[in-house]
Amino acid sequence: MNTVQATEIPGSVTANTPSVTASPRAVTATTTTVTASPRAVTATTTTVTASEAKQSMDPTGSPPRFAPRDDGQDLAHAWTLLDSLTDPEIPVVTLRELGILRDVRAGDAGLEVVITPTYSGCPAMGAIEDDVRALLQANGLQGRVVTQLAPAWTTDWMSDAAKDKLRAYGIAPPHACASNASGAASVVQFASRSAKPEVVNCPQCGSANTTETSHFGSTACKALYRCLACMEPFDYFKPY
Ligand SMILES: [Zn+2]
Repeated sequence: MNTVQATEIPGSVTANTPSVTASPRAVTATTTTVTASPRAVTATTTTVTASEAKQSMDPTGSPPRFAPRDDGQDLAHAWTLLDSLTDPEIPVVTLRELGILRDVRAGDAGLEVVITPTYSGCPAMGAIEDDVRALLQANGLQGRVVTQLAPAWTTDWMSDAAKDKLRAYGIAPPHACASNASGAASVVQFASRSAKPEVVNCPQCGSANTTETSHFGSTACKALYRCLACMEPFDYFKPY
C-alpha cells in the first residue's frame, strides 16, 4: 500500500516517504482543505493515501470523507479533536471545559456535535459552530452541529480547571449558582440571583476588597470590577 505521511505544518507539506507515489497535486489539494481552518492546524498528523487524496478532490460535490471507520472510532476521534477547540472570546479555556460542548453522538447523517449557548444571543456561538464544522471537515469527519437550548447553560457546568485558567488569565471565575441545584431547565439570568452583594476576589492579588464599576464588561457575560488593593481593573465572569 502506497502511503504518504503528511505532517501538517501551516502553509507547507512534508512528505516523509522518499518514494512518493501519490500525485503531488492530490496532496496539495488535500492540504488546502485541511488548512482551511486556522484552528485545526495545531500539530496533528494525518496519513493520506493516494486514493483518499483523490477522493477528497471528487468533483461530484460529495463531502470529503477518508477511509470509513466504525462509529466508535469516529466518536473517539471527534472528541479528541474537539477537545482542542477553545472559546473564541477566552482562548485559554476549551469549549468542553466551559460546558458548551455537551455531547458527540452518532446520528443518521454522521456525527452530531451538541453545543449549548452560554446565553441566548451570545455573539460567539456563530463562531463556535463554524469552528466545529471546519474542524470536522478538515479531518474528514462528516457531521453537523446541534444546538441544544434546554437545559439552559449554567456557569456551574464550568470545570474547576476552567475556573483556574480564567483566574490565571485575569478573569475572576463565577461563583457557584446555589439556586440551580435541581439542574432542571431554568431561565437564564442576566443578573446575579443573589440579592446580597457578592464578594469577588481580585484575580491578580487575591484581595476581597473589590468593587463593581460596570455590570457589563468586555462581553455581556462579564462584569467590570476594580481591585481597591492593587488598583487593577478586571473582568468577573458572572454566574448564571
Ligand atoms: Zn488586586
